[in-house]
Order: sequence, then structure tokens, then C-alpha cells
Amino acid sequence: MNLILFGPPGAGKGTQAKKLVDFYGIPQISTGDILRANVREGTELGFVAKAYMDKGDLVPDEVLIGIIKNRLKEPDCKIGFILDGYPRTVSQANALEVILDEINKPLDVILNLEVPNKKLIERISGRLICRNCGASYHRIFNQPKKEGICDICGDEIYQRSDDKEESVQNRLNVYKMQTQLLIDYYFKKGILVTLEGNKEIDEVLEDIKVVLAKLA
Ligand code: ADP
Ligand code: ADP
Ligand code: ZN
Repeated sequence: MNLILFGPPGAGKGTQAKKLVDFYGIPQISTGDILRANVREGTELGFVAKAYMDKGDLVPDEVLIGIIKNRLKEPDCKIGFILDGYPRTVSQANALEVILDEINKPLDVILNLEVPNKKLIERISGRLICRNCGASYHRIFNQPKKEGICDICGDEIYQRSDDKEESVQNRLNVYKMQTQLLIDYYFKKGILVTLEGNKEIDEVLEDIKVVLAKLA
């Protein structure tokens, strides 16, 4: 199963991706997680990316295309993959098509999670993530079992610096200006499915499973 989880910041892509990894045993490829790991490890890539991420701007396409190209060629993607946070521009989507052609792995579906803007801001401003595995929690809507500790891996959870007020509005604008038009791009290819993302986490998951069951 080769799929993209699509939607604005805070739509629930990462949350659903982690659950789908457990259920279907296919890897999640989160470009945000990959970039944050590079920032944490102090790589050159991380250094370049950080300036964009702090402002809530997109990291340049060529950087992301390079990351995705390498990642999709890793052996665990042979059985499928869940893209989370990529593509975000038409040129990233075009590059993806070329890469997937090369490795002969066509996309099965783009799941587009729709959530009203007001709700997105509520979600993003209360989000906490795991330093180690990237799992998302929420101060109110999705608390970890033990305060400050990741349910999955036991590491520390924290608030992303770009989830603090200043850059959130910019990220929502960037989504509107540069990313949202991919809905039409994939609709025209006939592989877009739009789902209501403004439901309980497990209800959204059930809706996703219904769509994926029809593909299998
Ligand atoms: P994305 O990866 O699309 O940016 P996340 O999966 O990180 O979004 O979710 C954003 C925030 O909203 C997190 O704090 C997460 O715990 C919370 N969240 C995710 N899905 C839901 C939902 N269906 N209802 C309420 N809160 C949610
Ligand atoms: P969110 O879950 O809130 O949408 P992400 O973790 O996906 O945030 O991304 C965090 C930041 O990393 C983005 O604001 C952007 O700076 C950078 N980033 C992640 N994925 C991409 C991408 N595909 N293209 C460009 N920049 C990206
Ligand atoms: Zn964790």
C-alpha cells in the first residue's frame, strides 16, 4: 500500500500515520520528523533547514526531493509507505511521480484530512511531541498515559518551537498558498479521497481503514 496522508498542519497526519504503521506494518515517512532529527543531530542539512522551519516557511524543494528519493529507495519501502508531510508543492509532487515511476511503486491513494482552521490552531498550540519517535500528543485532546512521557517509546515529550504562536499562522498561510493546490492535482489523477478530520482520533482511523480496505 503506497499512500499519502495529506492536510494542513495539525490535521492529524502524524497521529493517524503512527496508527497505520501499527496496523499495516508499513513505514511512515515524515519529512518533518526527518528534518527535526537532522536539526537535533547538528547535520549540515539540519542547519540549513532550521532557519526555514523556525519561521514556518517551507524548506527548499531540492532539499526535500533529495531526502525523499533516498528514503523511498530503502528496503522497508518495498512493502509500501505512508508519506506524511510530503509533497507540499507541485514541484515536490512532480518529483515524487518520477521517483515512484523509477522504482515502479505507483501511488494508491491520497487521504486528504479536512479540519476547520480554528480547530487546527487549537490542535497545534496544544501539541506535544516525542523527542525520540516523533509521536504527537495534545495537552487536552490526546494526553499521554504518564505526563511528559511518550506512551510508545518512553522518551520525553516537548512542545516544538515552531508550534508556539508566532509561526503557526504563517504555516497555515503557507499551506493555503503553496500546498492546498495539490488537492486539485491529485483529484485530477483520480486518487484523492477527502475525509472529515474533525472527529475523534479513533473515528478518523476507522474511516481511513474503510477506504484502505477497498484498495486491498
Ligand atoms: P499533523 O501531523 O497533521 O500536523 P498531528 O497528528 O501532529 O498533525 O496532530 C496535531 C495535534 O492534534 C496533536 O496535538 C494531536 O495529538 C492532536 N490531534 C490529532 N488528531 C486529533 C483528533 N482527531 N482530535 C483531536 N486532536 C487531535
Ligand atoms: P506539521 O505537522 O505542523 O505540518 P511538519 O512536521 O510536517 O509540520 O513540518 C515542520 C516544518 O518542516 C515545516 O513547517 C517546514 O518548514 C518543514 N517541512 C516539512 N516537510 C516539508 C516539505 N515536504 N517541504 C518543505 N518543508 C517541509
Ligand atoms: Zn516516543
